[in-house]
Amino acid sequence: MDQGYEIIWQKCLKIIKKNIPAQSFKTWFEPICPVALNDSVLTIQVPNKFFYEWLEEHYVNLLKMTIRQELGEKGQLEYQIHVNNKNKRIPGAGSQDTSSNQIEKPGFETDQIKNPFVIPGIKKIRIDAQLNPTYLFENFIEGDCNRLARSAGVAVAKKPGGTAFNPLFIFGKVGLGKTHLAHAIGNEIKQKSPNKTTLYVSSEKFTNQFIESLKNNAVNDFVNFYQLIDVLIVDDIQFLSNKQKTQDIFFHIFNQLHQNGKQLILTSDRPPKDLIGVEERLISRFKWGLNADLQVPDLETRMAIVESKMTREGFALPGEVTEFISYNIKNNIRELEGVLISLIAQSSLNRREINIDLAKEVIQNFVSEISKEVTVEFIQKMVAEYYDLKVENLKGKTRKRSIVIARQLSMYLAKNMTNKSLKVIGDNFGGRDHSTVIYSCKAVKDLLDTDILFKDTVETIEKKIKMSVHS
Ligand code: ADP
Ligand code: MG
Repeated sequence: MDQGYEIIWQKCLKIIKKNIPAQSFKTWFEPICPVALNDSVLTIQVPNKFFYEWLEEHYVNLLKMTIRQELGEKGQLEYQIHVNNKNKRIPGAGSQDTSSNQIEKPGFETDQIKNPFVIPGIKKIRIDAQLNPTYLFENFIEGDCNRLARSAGVAVAKKPGGTAFNPLFIFGKVGLGKTHLAHAIGNEIKQKSPNKTTLYVSSEKFTNQFIESLKNNAVNDFVNFYQLIDVLIVDDIQFLSNKQKTQDIFFHIFNQLHQNGKQLILTSDRPPKDLIGVEERLISRFKWGLNADLQVPDLETRMAIVESKMTREGFALPGEVTEFISYNIKNNIRELEGVLISLIAQSSLNRREINIDLAKEVIQNFVSEISKEVTVEFIQKMVAEYYDLKVENLKGKTRKRSIVIARQLSMYLAKNMTNKSLKVIGDNFGGRDHSTVIYSCKAVKDLLDTDILFKDTVETIEKKIKMSVHS
């Protein structure tokens, strides 16, 4: 009976091996040691709690079946987790009580853990936080667009793991500052709580490390490593989409950390509910803490960002240039920075003066799609220019046929090229009412149907409006 458990376990392994892929067998079953067999209860030792959870989640049926086959109907399995010096026993597959609540947090022989971020040569484990030291709160300009996310970030940085914002889930479109903010939180924590182990990782890197660990049969090290982290920042979590296995492992790591009061900070290009190809149980956890979005900054915030960046680079932009750039680059702060870098290059390498003309040139060269918001005023200006009139003529009361057509055309374009209401458009034409705008639009449409020359004219003006960057 002495060595009985080993023989039984070898038999179990044979069955298991036949039923799962070789890689999974290697990863999840080879590291298990059988330790005892008492009254049809087979005890096996697993390296950590995570391992146990994984087995219970993914192999519970296989284990049950195997144990029953080898030990009969009464056969049960118990897990033992290595907890520093003492062992903790927990019931597992095939037992009556599979509740996992009483498991003690496993301890780690940290010196033995291999991980991809350890700084070599340092005996005591120290993990490089992978933070970009230039992304700070002080250069993350505050605006309505980011106030909630920024202040939540500040709160989390003060008390990592100690606020309701766990996880802090920051989402927003590309180039709006998710990565910057995530690093800023990490940097602040590193400064305020140097004893906390902080780690920034992109979800892509996380995925690659996980795959690598599978290949090297080192999933255990991978998981142990992530369990050492006090503040885990995972950037662009949307990349986990459709990566089932990585999501699984992340789910477990998330739970372990969260249960232990560790802080999670996640970023994504969309809110949790829109994450397609991500398991529901993960999405529901993403909603646990605070979901804070970063929106497109308004003009004032964009101007403040431009000023701050230029001051940092030691350049002073003329106010009108700051305004011009901020006005024209609306949706992406990274693009805004690109324009500034080009401006600096033009000015310092080509010794050109920084003025509106240079800015216009840079913007046109740099950004293929300038996000232009066509305004009613701009349309009036372009139409007046085309017909060689004054804008006042368009707003005035003259009934001169040529002016009336230009006026009606401006209203028509305003209706089609802006999202202003009929009322607002009417207001812009010397306080005409909305029925006048409707009438004008109809008159232009009729003319377009009958007059090919007029049609040409309208198309030319439309194109001009679309092509020009308004100054
Ligand atoms: P995302 O990760 O959302 O795509 P990033 O964090 O990479 O965006 O931001 C793009 C660039 O814009 C970065 O260089 C960042 O420093 C800058 N940026 C974004 N938001 C701000 C802000 N509020 N103040 C200053 N710079 C910002
Ligand atoms: Mg980013």
